[in-house]
Amino acid sequence: MSFGESQVERYARHIILQEVGGQGQAKLLESKVLIVGAGGLGSPLLLYLAAAGVGMLGIVDDDRVSLSNLQRQVIHTNDALGVPKVESAARAIKAINPDVAVMCHEERLTAENALNLISAYDLVADGSDNFETRFLLNDACYFGRKTLVSAAILRFDGQLSTYKAYAAKGQPCYRCIFREPPPPGLIPSCAEGGILGAVAGSMGSLQSTEVLKELLGIGESLSGTLLIYDALGATFRNVRIKPDPTCPLCGDNPTITDLSSHLLATDEVCAVP
Ligand SMILES: [Zn+2]
Repeated sequence: MSFGESQVERYARHIILQEVGGQGQAKLLESKVLIVGAGGLGSPLLLYLAAAGVGMLGIVDDDRVSLSNLQRQVIHTNDALGVPKVESAARAIKAINPDVAVMCHEERLTAENALNLISAYDLVADGSDNFETRFLLNDACYFGRKTLVSAAILRFDGQLSTYKAYAAKGQPCYRCIFREPPPPGLIPSCAEGGILGAVAGSMGSLQSTEVLKELLGIGESLSGTLLIYDALGATFRNVRIKPDPTCPLCGDNPTITDLSSHLLATDEVCAVP
């Protein structure tokens, strides 16, 4: 791949990095990333991945922009109120970087469409706000053999990790840490519990860095590590996570062998497990 003059200028600060270079930038321009949720996490994710020149960004979201979103969902603006989030996000991405193709999937992620949706992409980033989607995406990415970079936020706290249990036995999946969704009502949603907007920005930005690292194959992967951010304490903790041999998905005797259990899921809760 050869760069045009404006691309050399646009990506100059990437190209000068030894770990990225022209080759790495070309790789990004050929990469396809699916982002689930164009909200608090999805906003910084999409903005930074677009600016970085990730060639294709797919966005899954069935919601429309509302006033209470604008406190943290910085990809959307006041004049986009009432507009589908995928459309509002696509507009912002195009305004930042015309190199990026955007695929709008204005729908909810379901057991029926998940495998098909992720199949067209190299990597998946979870910016969703509920456990149902979080577990569904973990299972779908395992079966579909896609690396999943997943973040979660609530109040002043955030979590982030990368899951690629499909790739090797030594790597955990989300269910190795959190076996199944908590009972409905146990953990408040962001709407109930609140969220400091800037915490969404911090976690979404960290998430975009991990996505770029995975695409480029540089640095230490967060696979096998859960990064926990406590904004009030101003601390980051790294917790090592091991694959669980009794995990119902990626363990030695899996009981989840397809996405059918998600067909029955009804209740929704949002946030950090
Ligand atoms: Zn597992």
